[in-house]
Amino acid sequence: MPLVSMRQLLDEAAKGGYGVGAFNVNDMEQIQAIMAAAKETKSPVIVQASRGARQFAEDLYLFKLIQAAAELNPEIPIAMHQDHGNSFETCKSAIELGYTSVMMDGSLKEDGKTPSTFEENVAVTKRVVDYAHERGVTVEGEIGVLGGVEDGHGAGGSGLDHITDPDQAVEFAEKTGVDALAIAIGTSHGAYKFTKKPDGSVLKMDVLIAIHKRLPNTHLVMHGSSSVPKDLQDVVNQYGGKLKETWGVPVEEIQLGIRNGVRKINVDTDNRLAMTGAIRKVLWETPEKFDPRDYMKPAREAMKKVVALRMVQFGQAGHAGDYAPISIEQIAKGYKDGTLSTQPLVAAK
Ligand SMILES: [Zn+2]
Repeated sequence: MPLVSMRQLLDEAAKGGYGVGAFNVNDMEQIQAIMAAAKETKSPVIVQASRGARQFAEDLYLFKLIQAAAELNPEIPIAMHQDHGNSFETCKSAIELGYTSVMMDGSLKEDGKTPSTFEENVAVTKRVVDYAHERGVTVEGEIGVLGGVEDGHGAGGSGLDHITDPDQAVEFAEKTGVDALAIAIGTSHGAYKFTKKPDGSVLKMDVLIAIHKRLPNTHLVMHGSSSVPKDLQDVVNQYGGKLKETWGVPVEEIQLGIRNGVRKINVDTDNRLAMTGAIRKVLWETPEKFDPRDYMKPAREAMKKVVALRMVQFGQAGHAGDYAPISIEQIAKGYKDGTLSTQPLVAAK
């Protein structure tokens, strides 16, 4: 089937009360791993590419691979998403390529490092929403600033520096008309999120719940939501890696989020760890091997296992066949005639 609208994927997830994993890709093996997991678990899926990924793989290679994934898996709804667009131009170029969803991360200035003002964020996000919706493309915005840096994108520092303010989240959703809203609740990008198993002092699930209460119909997005499980860290270190001990976002906290409006969960680090561990193991145990297939095949398999597990844990498993995809043209009409809302339902405090 053709690539589908992320808005439709998330609307359906809201109806079904589940979350959808958004997995980052840079190359063919990662795309194949995600599709094998989606097929095995019968899951709708969001595939996303950062600016760094688009540069690494070159736009056309990456996009043609996604098209191949869609063609080879007609029973799986796939949304292709630009992760952390830093400007109107980045989002526009993704839409021109055929991405069905973009994130305009206006929480940072165009340099992808400096936190922006609320007004700047609203202005650039609204501009992307107007352009994207006219073309049936979904938009995710961000209010508050995530911690850490990934692919050169991020303000750095702790995830606690710019926690989302619920009142601002409401105002932002109203002023921009975004389809999905990324919020900052203490998580960070990258492997080093927390120095111990996170509790409420560093992972602000109470803020997430407060935002969901005010915006009960808004699709919330959790970034930096790899769980960084110890067994994946251990494989890397067992075969010569040097990862420092670290904690991610426990799956049960993500599941609590899903019960409170989280519909999209971004996962990258767990897949990176799984692939690297598998590659290290082959090279460590059989140093005489030099055919890339000897280690890329187990790497792909290791990533598939993690993705399939997350699909079950997020609840998207089994939902691939629930609905018929609406064409992007039809989605564009929906935004225009108001059948697809672009104004959030706001509950009183
Ligand atoms: Zn992110």
